[in-house]
Amino acid sequence: MENFIKSNDLKRRVLVVDDELINREILGNILATTYEVVYAEDGAHALELLKDRNVRYSLILLDLLMPNMDGFEFLTMCKSDERLKSVPVIVMTSEKDAEVKSIKMGAADFITKPYDMPEVILARVERIIELSENTSIIKHAEKDTLTGLYSKDFFFEYIRQIEAYDPNKSTDAIVINVEHFHLINEIYGRGEGDSVLIQIADLILETLKSIHGIACRTDADTFYVYSRHTNNPEEIINQISADLTRAFKDHPIRIRAGVYENVDKDVIPENRYDRAKMACDRIRDDYTHMVSYYNKELHEKSIYFEKLIHDIDSAIENKDFVVYFQPKYGIQQGRYKLRSAEALIRWKHPEMGMISPGDFIPLFESNGLIQKVDNYVWCEAARTIKQWKDKYNITVPVSVNVSRIDIYDPNLENNLINILDSNGLTPNEYMLEITESAYSDNADRLIEVINNMRAKGFKIEMDDFGSGYSSLNMLTTIPIDVLKMDMKFVKNMLNDSKSLKLVTLVMDIAKFLNVPVVAEGVESKEQLDTLHEMGCEIIQGFYFSRPVPAEEFEAFIQKEVELRKEEA
Ligand code: C2E
Ligand code: MG
Ligand code: MG
Repeated sequence: MENFIKSNDLKRRVLVVDDELINREILGNILATTYEVVYAEDGAHALELLKDRNVRYSLILLDLLMPNMDGFEFLTMCKSDERLKSVPVIVMTSEKDAEVKSIKMGAADFITKPYDMPEVILARVERIIELSENTSIIKHAEKDTLTGLYSKDFFFEYIRQIEAYDPNKSTDAIVINVEHFHLINEIYGRGEGDSVLIQIADLILETLKSIHGIACRTDADTFYVYSRHTNNPEEIINQISADLTRAFKDHPIRIRAGVYENVDKDVIPENRYDRAKMACDRIRDDYTHMVSYYNKELHEKSIYFEKLIHDIDSAIENKDFVVYFQPKYGIQQGRYKLRSAEALIRWKHPEMGMISPGDFIPLFESNGLIQKVDNYVWCEAARTIKQWKDKYNITVPVSVNVSRIDIYDPNLENNLINILDSNGLTPNEYMLEITESAYSDNADRLIEVINNMRAKGFKIEMDDFGSGYSSLNMLTTIPIDVLKMDMKFVKNMLNDSKSLKLVTLVMDIAKFLNVPVVAEGVESKEQLDTLHEMGCEIIQGFYFSRPVPAEEFEAFIQKEVELRKEEA
């Protein structure tokens, strides 16, 4: 703290509250070289000054005997105000009784009148300020043990304190992330991953010397930088990137950064970094950009996101979320046979109309709200299977999407079992789709969960296979029942020989694992026929149907029931 204040020529601010001009002048003379001193003539005037949220005071020196509002009344009001109560108050008095009373009321210390020697007053003021800053900062663990950068909590607290002295100076919020960091851990080992992080932290610290700032590390591979506004954040990031390339010659490390420039000081520090992170996320996997800025477009998007987050509970309550079903057909048994369905959520928003899952699922995954949505879908899916079963006397198993966040929920299994129980269903009537990218997050936890679920009878489908980065090694250790091939292979397979080769490869992997393949995104007869020839068993796609509401889906069940009757 001290370093930052000194290197930025900042002065802490002290409020002197005294009705006598001569006292204000004496204190002003003692304090003005070290502090920025602001004066108030009585309690009411002082409260007026303290109302300004943009100006933070490090300490209040308070006279007790004043007209209008005296020191005791002022102290009572201050200590009952959430924002002001942490500002330490030193009372100035000549009476012993008043000293005790004010300390009981929350004053931090007292100075006797007539005044002591100037050095004594200055020392007391310094000590109380230091004590108060340390206690608020000590609450948060200071350092990240791996890199020596600050911890996130400490970092945010630090920003608040810095801005208490200097609320109006332009600053930038920068988020730096290592692209596919988990792959570095996986391929080169954790030790190498750690040394990449340490190296980045060192480079950031080096940079901070010239741009006057502080930094922390969070979520393993993400760094937050707080600095004076610079006109060349790109230069800084380029420099760090070039140094990294030099340091790790045998495997390239790619970083990307999101910058929220000239931050709005009314936005709390945590939210400023959410904004910078949003900019950073926008260029994930975009190899043409290393730096992205928070701009008007992202601002509008963040407002839209806030609205979605705000509306989620009422959407669940009012059933604005609607579950659609898309059929999956078996294609290798002479005729196209209805095998199952996938439950896919839609949001019929009362003001904004139909919202597709692509717009809100990633958002809710990023903040954990996905669990509410998934739970809703799981219940609706179970209720629908039961309804169809009662009406048509056949089970159409439904697969539901399980987000990677759900995997970490220790109640996942119980929750699903309860949902099935309350609808009189068993796990073999229900399938779980887990997207491939979840597999690379925390493979150990995932294996444990999947083993438990399979032991209970659930079937597990690996969704969007080919979009993530799971290694063959991981595939062979993670038990799955079905591979769902990523849609992009099917989309391009007829006009691009590379995609066709990849489809062949997926088929081979599935054969090796001894599991069937579901091809998603099948839109044409040509695609279907090609996949049929290649031995693909199950097809899901617009060729058969788009996802439709449960009532509409019944047409497929009716047809299937009729065909089965004819075959019997
Ligand atoms: P997904 O699980 O891979 O679902 C398949 C997506 O492909 C669906 O998009 C479906 O409408 C679309 N699709 C199916 N056949 C075709 C086709 O022939 N052509 C084209 N172009 N698209 C086809 P949708 O419904 O927009 O869902 C997108 C993603 O959102 C899903 O991908 C899934 O990851 C997620 N999602 C949807 N519902 C839920 C849910 O209830 N929970 C969770 N966690 N995620 C969900
Ligand atoms: Mg799916
Ligand atoms: Mg999929």
